[in-house]
Amino acid sequence: MNTTSANQVEFTINRNANPLPEAERNAILQNPGFGKHFTDHMATIDWTREQGWHDARIVPYGPLQLDPAASVLHYAQEIFEGLKAYRHADGSVWTFRPEANALRFQLSARRLALPELPVDLFIESLKQLISVDKAWVPSAPETSAYIRPFMIANESFLGVRSAERAAYHVIVSPAGSYFAKGMQPISIWLASEFARAGKGGTGEAKCGGNYAASLLPQQEAYANGCSQVLFLDAEEHTYLEELGGMNIFLVRKDGTLITPKPSGSILKGITRASLIQLAEDMGLKVEERKVALQEWRDGINSGEITEAFACGTAAVIAPICALKSKDFIIGDENAPAGKVTVALRNKLTGIQYGLEEDTHGWLTRLA
Ligand SMILES: *Cc1c(COP(=O)(O)O)cnc(C)c1O
Repeated sequence: MNTTSANQVEFTINRNANPLPEAERNAILQNPGFGKHFTDHMATIDWTREQGWHDARIVPYGPLQLDPAASVLHYAQEIFEGLKAYRHADGSVWTFRPEANALRFQLSARRLALPELPVDLFIESLKQLISVDKAWVPSAPETSAYIRPFMIANESFLGVRSAERAAYHVIVSPAGSYFAKGMQPISIWLASEFARAGKGGTGEAKCGGNYAASLLPQQEAYANGCSQVLFLDAEEHTYLEELGGMNIFLVRKDGTLITPKPSGSILKGITRASLIQLAEDMGLKVEERKVALQEWRDGINSGEITEAFACGTAAVIAPICALKSKDFIIGDENAPAGKVTVALRNKLTGIQYGLEEDTHGWLTRLA
């Protein structure tokens, strides 16, 4: 065991005595899929009301011990983040805008009455973990290591109030290319009976509860041959909000991007914010405002709206070819990805993989 210092916080490093043998790790990295395999280590930091954040450590990946009364199991006091580690041509490993994830993690913590983790501690936990598990970051094009920081309330107490104890963990999973067979546009399903989040709810926080609420409509999507669900606003059921885990953009024939303006119930994606910046860099206009479903339907019919895509860290951009509902289908299930969609995706992935200049200073070296 040895310790490494990080701005006052000491990370204890307890190396896994039985890491996966190199040959087995390489076999996984050949075809990692998504979220199926995990690296040899994880990061953990504990919090109590009395002590604050303490005992930062890198330990062997393994099961957590939870008391059956742990508050997260009963009242879902849980938040998470998702970002990726990208291997560059020289072997170095980088991540994308981690301070934005750290700030969003604080916003989510506030909403779920969990303690806020300092930004530098969040980033340091990623550096420490990826340094130890660097060999798990694949190098084939469009592959990455998906990093999942999360926090749970783990006080053993069934009374209903915010917990006095919490734990922050980070796990890492090697990820294959999202579009292994080339960029395949997706069909999406319109949730007609369900909403993802309402005004004043937790839609702007990245919490497991939002995902739990999206799984039933997601099943409905699969049953109808769609891979994702589109949610409309909960009050009027008129305006586009987002997919279960991705933001949405429409593209007009003049190249203008249109995307719903976050107003409390939409998760503010970092991919979304980055694409808005890159589109503006390319001289495209971006409109952030309310977008009625009817505007999309009319725009497809008139030819005014020519492309649509979803965006988030996992897929970066997934082109949308069609929107289906119980009553109608718009778009064309065989349409290829549009040219603005492709250009934006190439630009953003180019920066992430170190192939394009990082003019906005978005990359942070992890290892
Ligand atoms: C994480 C997430 C997104 C995408 O956010 P990114 O920062 O771009 O990965 C969009 N919507 C929801 C509901 C999410 O949880």
